[in-house]
Amino acid sequence: MQVYLARRGWPHQPSCPLCNGPLDSGLHLCLTCPFTQEVWSRVLAWVNFSLPQQIDPNSIPNIREWWEKSETLFPKDRRRVFNGVVIYTMWNLWKERNRRIFKHCSLSSLQVAGKVRECVSLYRSASIYLGSN
Ligand SMILES: [Zn+2]
Repeated sequence: MQVYLARRGWPHQPSCPLCNGPLDSGLHLCLTCPFTQEVWSRVLAWVNFSLPQQIDPNSIPNIREWWEKSETLFPKDRRRVFNGVVIYTMWNLWKERNRRIFKHCSLSSLQVAGKVRECVSLYRSASIYLGSN
């Protein structure tokens, strides 16, 4: 997203707010950033899940394509879990990015993974309560 802001001449971070590496992009923020990879590894260990290794995030143009291709690699009954984990992980990574930029404070990868865990647990409780599980 910083690339798009920079192209338009809008204020932007010159580096990734999560790792201080080069200019961030959606793929970097969601998948390839070292901080993001720490969060993913903690979340995936907790949910006992792994991301498809067949898709190299460095060989695809954007996160949408990664997501669409990855989803098809899971059997239908696992797609809901996969999509839920992806949504909550990326949402919390986005919130951590914004926390660092706008509030000038940060959480560790363990704390961000904990936030993802809370979201998934709440979602599971709500699904059971609403009978949609
Ligand atoms: Zn980064």
